[in-house]
Amino acid sequence: MRVHFCGVRGSTPAPGPEFVRYGGHTSCIALSHDGDGPRPTLALDAGTGLRRLSGLLDGAPFRGTILLTHLHWDHVQGLPFFTSGDHDDARVTLLLPGENEHTHADTLLARMMSPPFFPIGPHQLRGDWRFGLLPSGTFDAEGFSVLALEVPHKGGRTVGFRVSDGHSAVAYIPDHCPTALGDGPEGTGEYHEAVLELARGVDLLVHDSHLRAEEVAAEGSFGHAAAEYAVGLGTRAGAHRVALFHHRPERDDNEVDRIVCRFTGSSVPVVGAREGMVLTL
Ligand SMILES: [Zn+2]
Ligand SMILES: [Zn+2]
Repeated sequence: MRVHFCGVRGSTPAPGPEFVRYGGHTSCIALSHDGDGPRPTLALDAGTGLRRLSGLLDGAPFRGTILLTHLHWDHVQGLPFFTSGDHDDARVTLLLPGENEHTHADTLLARMMSPPFFPIGPHQLRGDWRFGLLPSGTFDAEGFSVLALEVPHKGGRTVGFRVSDGHSAVAYIPDHCPTALGDGPEGTGEYHEAVLELARGVDLLVHDSHLRAEEVAAEGSFGHAAAEYAVGLGTRAGAHRVALFHHRPERDDNEVDRIVCRFTGSSVPVVGAREGMVLTL
């Protein structure tokens, strides 16, 4: 499979010349099968980076699935600006974690996307859109096998994903607060069963790296993880590569470079997730 990084930022977009190398769009990655050319059929999260997916499709209608880890702004605000999805010929299934089994996905989404906060609601997107809740256990989405497991974050149910095409696998855990479960062996949070299961043996672990280890004590309550935790998890879980993701909006390119450099020589290869980057697994 190919992993297209469409938005790698956390919290809010970060435009400006000091952010051009890693990019300013918020969280979204898109997955395509080998043989599909560059055209992804599965998107994970719908931050402002989702707009880049229309570019990958050359403006053709999107026919695929969008899975949301949670409903914070930086993971949903690209939805109404996704021109390949807001298209008469689009066919989109959007699945999200509900507050409970009685949640109506479209009603929940409309709390963010409806007047007076936004001009239109989810059902006014053009094309054939279907809204639903993420199934429990492993399920199929566009020919990928997907496992969604709940992880601690802050303010609303949040999941991480493990996606496999039968040959390779990626774990996507963009927002994760492991210190909510304890300090863990290095003080950056607990390596708990859910994330170990998601990340076990994956070819690529894409993980929340909003913080640096020294920021956890003061800012861990914001709901995020340190880059050191992401690499520690990748090492423990036997991941083949770690992509540091969800860069905080004030982190300029040089600072992200310095964070990535901290892991030179680590047993698992580490890259800083960069908008426009494509990794073939
Ligand atoms: Zn986020
Ligand atoms: Zn969040």
